[in-house]
Amino acid sequence: MQKISLSKELFENILLKKISVLSKDNNKYWKKVLLEPKIIDDNIKYSIKQFDTLTITNGLGKENPSLVIECKKIDYSSSKDCFEFTLGKVIEQKNTNLEENYKDNLIEQLLKEKELLQDTMNRDHLTKVYNRRKMEDDLKVLSRQSNSGFLSTIFIDADRFKGINDTFGHETGDKALIYLSEKLIKHAKILNGEVYRYGGEEFIILCFITKTHIVQKLNDLREDIKSKKIYHPLRDISITVSMGVSFFGDCKDAKEMIQKADAGLYMAKNKGRDRIEFT
Ligand code: GH3
Ligand code: MG
Ligand code: MG
Repeated sequence: MQKISLSKELFENILLKKISVLSKDNNKYWKKVLLEPKIIDDNIKYSIKQFDTLTITNGLGKENPSLVIECKKIDYSSSKDCFEFTLGKVIEQKNTNLEENYKDNLIEQLLKEKELLQDTMNRDHLTKVYNRRKMEDDLKVLSRQSNSGFLSTIFIDADRFKGINDTFGHETGDKALIYLSEKLIKHAKILNGEVYRYGGEEFIILCFITKTHIVQKLNDLREDIKSKKIYHPLRDISITVSMGVSFFGDCKDAKEMIQKADAGLYMAKNKGRDRIEFT
């Protein structure tokens, strides 16, 4: 086994696996250690001695940090004129307090990745608002909260949306859904709630607001959506929505609240669209 003493920084980088190839200059010392002369056909040829493991230290002495690491191969790089040690896994370590830090960093990184993955799973790919799965999870929590008496469901459906696809194409339809989502996100904040894409051109806002305030705020939302145009080379497109609203306080459970809001939406469609019905 070959022993190599390195600077603190290099030692730590090897321990944290930031460096996997260690270079050493082609000097007298390393030549003596690594080169093995052989006489073949009366000529001297050199081969590079191989070590299975290396002991790497930061400073000499028993108290100094050290580690035993697998050495996969040792090569000579003619372009850099140095010997290169390809390192493998750490087999043993002594006097390093980096092991704990390394684990902490790794755990932190994994938790962040998990959070990101979870968020991606909870969102709709096109509009980036939350999806139906997230709505069902949230609904369980929100309906058990002490303020659930103020919980309200707004079921929103784009009017005659099929027509937009048929006239302007699916891509423009997608653009219109993104436009709609942006408006809903803006107004959900005002309503003290959150937007979810329920499916297709249907969205739900779950929010906490009193009955007296909701009417004006939803009319503002309805007007805001139809007042702005979505750009298209043929002609700018305007879009309207119908809404059905229900209140948790009037229902036996969350399922009934959604059903009632859906029934309200159905009524709004039947009465001519671009309107809000309360159940
Ligand atoms: P109504 O006023 O009765 O709601 O009429 P509508 O045309 O909006 O309703 P319908 O259910 O007949 O059609 C919904 C359309 O929404 C059909 C479907 O192709 C379209 N749609 C659903 N999801 C998407 C999507 O992600 N992108 C696009 N471009 N269109 C979508
Ligand atoms: Mg529709
Ligand atoms: Mg629909």
